[in-house]
Amino acid sequence: MNFHVLTLFPDMIRDGFETSITGKAVEKGLLTLETVNIRDFSVNKHNRVDDYPYGGGAGMVMQAEPVCLAYESVASRLPKKPKVLYMSPQGRRFDQAMAQELAEEEELVLLCGHYEGIDERVLEEIVDEEVSIGDYVLTGGELAALVIMDAVSRMVGGVLHNEESAQFDSFHDNLLEYPQYSRPEVWRGKAVPPILLSGHHANVEKWRREQSLLRTRMRRPDLLEGAALTKQDRRFLRELDQSLSGKDEET
Ligand code: SAM
Repeated sequence: MNFHVLTLFPDMIRDGFETSITGKAVEKGLLTLETVNIRDFSVNKHNRVDDYPYGGGAGMVMQAEPVCLAYESVASRLPKKPKVLYMSPQGRRFDQAMAQELAEEEELVLLCGHYEGIDERVLEEIVDEEVSIGDYVLTGGELAALVIMDAVSRMVGGVLHNEESAQFDSFHDNLLEYPQYSRPEVWRGKAVPPILLSGHHANVEKWRREQSLLRTRMRRPDLLEGAALTKQDRRFLRELDQSLSGKDEET
């Protein structure tokens, strides 16, 4: 998978991405990262890439031409038009399903805005989709691009050590992950749930599934609607709901 990031702050992208697991995947050649500094395509003698908004108002707007030239410097080297995502609080909300979908792409171009955003005309020309990482406004698209690239990278074969670990992560199958424990067996008086020490694989799996269901029910019940639940899962949730409503009546 090849990421191409159009940005005014390439160091921020490189420092964030070429660290830890994604950095190792770059070293192994499983992922590549190209950063393109939009400022290198300034058409202004002062090297500026922003200007005042037409119609007045606060802030500055990134101009269309440098953004378009930066994009063309990438696209002209690729055999077909790459998918271009514009990081934007106005876009489709990023989630795990979208990460999975984007991991199918060979090339991904991520465009980071700054200031009040980017001239709409170039967005209409080059962008396939606007993507938001949440309902809040950041100062720039770089953190959003890093979030998206990180989540997508985990879906690319070979990036995670243990291929299985993404399979049980939160949001896979619309369920939150069960709680995790590591050594020591007792930490500050708190013991690991005994079932995890039993060595009984089937019982451990059953416990983990139930913990997943319990967590999702308590923390993100909205996810359960889209979850692939077995008959056993449904029974567990029914009993859980009954015991919870019993508790409500007691109080
Ligand atoms: N004036 C814009 C608006 O109200 O939609 C916000 C511009 S914001 C200050 C500057 C840049 O940060 C945007 O162009 C976008 O690239 C990025 N950005 C801000 N919030 C974001 C979010 N929630 N998700 C993705 N990118 C975001």
